[in-house]
Amino acid sequence: MSSDIMPRWVVLKFGGTSVSSRERWDTIASVVRERLGEGLRPLVVCSAFGGVTNALEGLLEGAMAGGFQQELDEIRAMHISLGEALEVDAQAVLAEDLSALGRLATGVYMVGEASPRIRARMLSLGEIMSTRLGAAFLSKVGLMAAWADARDALTSQGGLGLDAHRHYLSATCDFAPDQALSERLGRLDAEVIVTQGFIARDPAGETVLLGRGGSDTSASYLAAKLGAARCEIWTDVPGLYTANPRLVPEARLIRALDYREAQEIASTGAKVIHPRSVAPALRHKIPLHVRSTPRPEVEGTVITEGGQDQGARVKAISSKTGVTLVSMETAGMWQQVGFLADAFAQFKKHGLSIDLVSTSEMNVTVSLDPAANALEQETLTALVADLSGLCQARIIGPCASVSLVGRNVRSVLPRL
Ligand code: ADP
Ligand code: ASP
Ligand code: MG
Repeated sequence: MSSDIMPRWVVLKFGGTSVSSRERWDTIASVVRERLGEGLRPLVVCSAFGGVTNALEGLLEGAMAGGFQQELDEIRAMHISLGEALEVDAQAVLAEDLSALGRLATGVYMVGEASPRIRARMLSLGEIMSTRLGAAFLSKVGLMAAWADARDALTSQGGLGLDAHRHYLSATCDFAPDQALSERLGRLDAEVIVTQGFIARDPAGETVLLGRGGSDTSASYLAAKLGAARCEIWTDVPGLYTANPRLVPEARLIRALDYREAQEIASTGAKVIHPRSVAPALRHKIPLHVRSTPRPEVEGTVITEGGQDQGARVKAISSKTGVTLVSMETAGMWQQVGFLADAFAQFKKHGLSIDLVSTSEMNVTVSLDPAANALEQETLTALVADLSGLCQARIIGPCASVSLVGRNVRSVLPRL
């Protein structure tokens, strides 16, 4: 099919709970049919089944600790039973992946440790398996569906000084428009393509992950590369709320948001969209829609450029847990040149990304976000040792952060 007559892509991302039952897959099939009816070409991006990524981590820990059979059996049973609900022969469809998983676990068990590289290969199987069953199901219900390996579409960015954790487990990818990808996917003999969230390949061809919750980011990268009409994030709540609706039942659904506001809400802890998923959509002006698989009739939240009102107000409140603070105390920095530069250079040296910063005359405190940092005890100890030449450094944690997000919040502070 030549590109000028090819319908525009729409990327539909379904999270863990949105792919974990027959009922949800019936909804996915009907959303795909609706989008085909709109004249769009759907690319479905799926997470692993709910709980599977955690179960794979448990399998890995078990293998390192000396036993993993029970964990492996549970993961297999979960997929077989969902396969039965979907009327797909999971034993046959997943035979190779399940045996690869067993081999990897055995390898980890033999050596008693798992490198980030092996961890990435094991965790990637969650998304590989969910999409194989999903594609088989969509074919069974009469859609022409093809399975595609997301690793052939997304290449991670290397970069000097990237530690192994970041390289294999929290990678970022290029998302420039990719006509060749669009043509390659367009040539597949299918009306819907099913692919994985969360996984990519590094320039050497090794499997890498985009960080926990990273399937949203995969969807946004793919939408940007394909110049999609929009990117729909289908999840278990009807959109972005003024607070986490599971913690705050009175929270209200936000119908329209600007990319930058969505970015702030995401990066201050609202798990509903991954913080890295906003930038690719913003750069290529791809609308992001947040929708609910259990309640597909609700319009959800539309994230685009602008948003209507420019007035000062708080849009949302979000929180984050597992935050580590580094407090740096010194009398010597007052009116000195370069204290912050020297202190921050130590964070860079240890590969730590700083989130929030607060300063006073005698103290600078920064926060380290667990989603952006491996935060191993030995790294923190080495950081404190290196900082001690400059100041009295102290680690405080685990802490939580609570953020108010909105426009011109500064001007409404007195009222708040
Ligand atoms: P998925 O598996 O579909 O990716 P996630 O669990 O990652 O879903 O994200 C959805 C969850 O995000 C919701 O169940 C909700 O508890 C949580 N959440 C946190 N803050 C917000 C918010 N402001 N609006 C909506 N959901 C939120
Ligand atoms: N399955 C991965 C996770 O649980 C990625 C995702 O769901 O977005 O983190
Ligand atoms: Mg998520």
